[in-house]
Amino acid sequence: MTAQGSVIILANEVSMFSTGHHRILSVLSRSGPQSRTDLARILNLSKASVTALVRELIERNILDERERVFGFGRPAVMLGLRRDAASFIGISLQSDPVHIVLTDPHGRTHVHKTMPLVTDVEACLDAMVGAVRAVAAEAPEGVGALAGIGIVIAGIVSSDSHVCRISATLGWKDVDIGQRLSALTGLPVFVENDANALIIGEQLFGESGDLPDFSLVFVSEGIGGAHIIGGRLHRGRHGGAGEISHSPIAIDGNALPCRCGNRGCLETLAALPAILGAARRNGLPGDIATIKALAADGQPEALSILHQAGTALGIALSQVIQFIDPARIIIRLDPDLLESVFARALRQSVEAHVLRRESYETDLVLTALHPRDFATGASSLAAQHFLFGNTSL
Ligand SMILES: [Zn+2]
Repeated sequence: MTAQGSVIILANEVSMFSTGHHRILSVLSRSGPQSRTDLARILNLSKASVTALVRELIERNILDERERVFGFGRPAVMLGLRRDAASFIGISLQSDPVHIVLTDPHGRTHVHKTMPLVTDVEACLDAMVGAVRAVAAEAPEGVGALAGIGIVIAGIVSSDSHVCRISATLGWKDVDIGQRLSALTGLPVFVENDANALIIGEQLFGESGDLPDFSLVFVSEGIGGAHIIGGRLHRGRHGGAGEISHSPIAIDGNALPCRCGNRGCLETLAALPAILGAARRNGLPGDIATIKALAADGQPEALSILHQAGTALGIALSQVIQFIDPARIIIRLDPDLLESVFARALRQSVEAHVLRRESYETDLVLTALHPRDFATGASSLAAQHFLFGNTSL
């Protein structure tokens, strides 16, 4: 069965905004409603230019006028980004099952579905087209027309966000999944690595979005990392920046073999399969919640396993801090690892390994990671393109 012929057109005319439109949308997305006068000042544009651009965006049902603010001088009309300006679909092929979400321009999720992961490219395209239809059909009233799709994979993606260069999870090499899904749906499609998508979602809709320099690391089956440097996603020359899973941490004779072919990688010490594997070797139950509970009761092996894993991640993060000095590192963890020996050892390890500084330090923020978060990260790729175009965040 092939995906050929199953064309669906759901988009509004995904109208190309001008740079001026995108600049206004980016300010309203980041800072909330503003008056025309404030927009002119923030963007260093004439009031006449802002008025013309805003009029076009109102006519296209992207912006609306909000409450008047009475201060000194004339009352101002605030302009806001409409919740129904557009909607976006995010698909996470990061792990099995696939998560699919539909979100609005404010990052809110309105539909969430799952389906089994299929790795055959044609079958996967068919499944994604079906999922896009199903999710769009479930969109509640008041949700805008679809304006784009984001896809997240575990692996490396081309810098134009179309081609999966390599993904061990999917067994794909140089698959132009973005162009192909775009041809089948009539919508723009953006493909991104899992950690990069999470950090773009954070930059667009999260509390760290205003920071020009921050990093994100997640721990799941593997360990992913991504960096915003100077306000922009840092991809590196080959799109592989931030890949800390295979940073060598253990260099002694006990270093464990890694699936990448090397030994002693961070992943062999701190990813979930490493923690569960160590538990099994010590005769403990193979789930994180139980290991955490045993450690909380003082069970020595459980304590040691979580402590070692947290320490190893802390060593890797201290290297990130020494290399690029982010203002913050967001660490997304299995909910059971939060408030655990793992988390405490992680903080202690960073403290112990980072060169002591007198006047500044990197903030570590530990938050929960759920599998669907990769799908909301994916949808934020499409939202980013819709709101920001090629303008800098
Ligand atoms: Zn490795």
